[in-house]
Amino acid sequence: MIMSYTPTIGLEVHAELKTESKMFCGCKNDPHSSEVNSNICPVCLAHPGTLPVPNEHAIKKVLLFGEAVGATAATYSEFDRKNYFYPDIPKAYQISQYAFPFLSGGELEGIALTRVHLEEDTARNQHDKGTGSLVDFNRSGVPLMELVTEPVIHDQATAGQFARELQLLLRTFGISDANMERGEMRVEANISVSKEEGVLGTKVEVKNLNSFKSVEAAIAYEIARQIELLESGGEVAQETRGWDENRSKTFSQRSKETAKDYRYFPDPDIPKMDISLIGDFSKARLNEIMPKLPSNKRTEYENLGLTRESIETMISQPELDSFFAAVLLDANAKDNAEVLTLAANYLTSDVVPLLADPQYSLEQLSVAHYIELMTMLYEGKIGSRVAKDLLSTMFAATKGPLTLAEEQGLLQVSDTSSLQGFIDEVIAENPTVVADYKAGKEVALKFLVGQGMKKSKGAANPAVLNEMLQRALK
Ligand SMILES: [Zn+2]
Repeated sequence: MIMSYTPTIGLEVHAELKTESKMFCGCKNDPHSSEVNSNICPVCLAHPGTLPVPNEHAIKKVLLFGEAVGATAATYSEFDRKNYFYPDIPKAYQISQYAFPFLSGGELEGIALTRVHLEEDTARNQHDKGTGSLVDFNRSGVPLMELVTEPVIHDQATAGQFARELQLLLRTFGISDANMERGEMRVEANISVSKEEGVLGTKVEVKNLNSFKSVEAAIAYEIARQIELLESGGEVAQETRGWDENRSKTFSQRSKETAKDYRYFPDPDIPKMDISLIGDFSKARLNEIMPKLPSNKRTEYENLGLTRESIETMISQPELDSFFAAVLLDANAKDNAEVLTLAANYLTSDVVPLLADPQYSLEQLSVAHYIELMTMLYEGKIGSRVAKDLLSTMFAATKGPLTLAEEQGLLQVSDTSSLQGFIDEVIAENPTVVADYKAGKEVALKFLVGQGMKKSKGAANPAVLNEMLQRALK
């Protein structure tokens, strides 16, 4: 019987936009500033008589997002006042959008989007600083993008995957840092369960989800809670619930407001916008500055033969990805698929661990030198061990890896005449091992190759040594 319930989930996601200034004033957009109330002015403090001026860059970021998800950009748009009273909203209304959002429709990860609009963030109440409650206005007026999906998700894993892909897209496009722990991306889930096909149950909104894990856990908990409630003859109340991370439970916060409660009306202080008349907001202009979509990059990297893991590492780290983008465009590398694959693999497996150390940064690594190193590796001039060693010395080095390798005698020696002396010495110095090999003990050869490598100080090509020893001992 319990199996017959269908859960339905819609998501609402808020993302703080990464702009220089706030949404309606010139204050610095730095809500995490360590000094409270340092980025404030009469506008974001809601002093009487002040006038809001919309931030063009914030609107452009939202429209760019729209291009990425195939949404329809509004031709006409306006800002509305959403009225409610709370200490962190000194105007007693939030400037938001109601009837005419910037974007409608579109989809991400196969999930249909309802709308995306722009609004201002609230200030931040602090209840843990002494006896009273305090308010920090650094966040007041920070541009906030709100995205609403259609109620078309039916399980927590899909909701989690949607949120992850959204975060990746926001970061790739430089729209938001979208760090959930820092509140730069906030996910709310509307969850209902129903037994009747085509009929939605009463929905409950769950807030305070500040990690992907919480999103998935809260949805799973809420589905189970609602089914259990209905099965025991109860009713689901339409309400807003919070998520208690420590107890892994949702808890009732308040009954849900409806749009009516907010008395929305167009903000008379902000001009109406005819988006189609603003050249900078045209589709053509947006496409000029549009970065590659993560989904397109995945396909491109798959075609280069990169592993799934390398691809995800690459596209989730914008600096690494733009370094690789420069490698892909370089005249010395772009037509050599093997060099490009080597370059990608060394980036994700060897450069990434180095970057964990603050003394290394990608800005210190020259793309040309990096390609030179990968080409040396591809041409067999150096082995992988030497490549790793050289890599760590190349950061901030003015000399290229070929010069560095020559100076340190690290170039791999493959020509047999230079290696013959080592072969003779190894055979003369290890008569017992040689005898073992001749008696059929194959592993003895490995030891002899190792001795040859030692004599050449790691510069010999091990494959060539191996071949020469085999021939000499026949
Ligand atoms: Zn301000």
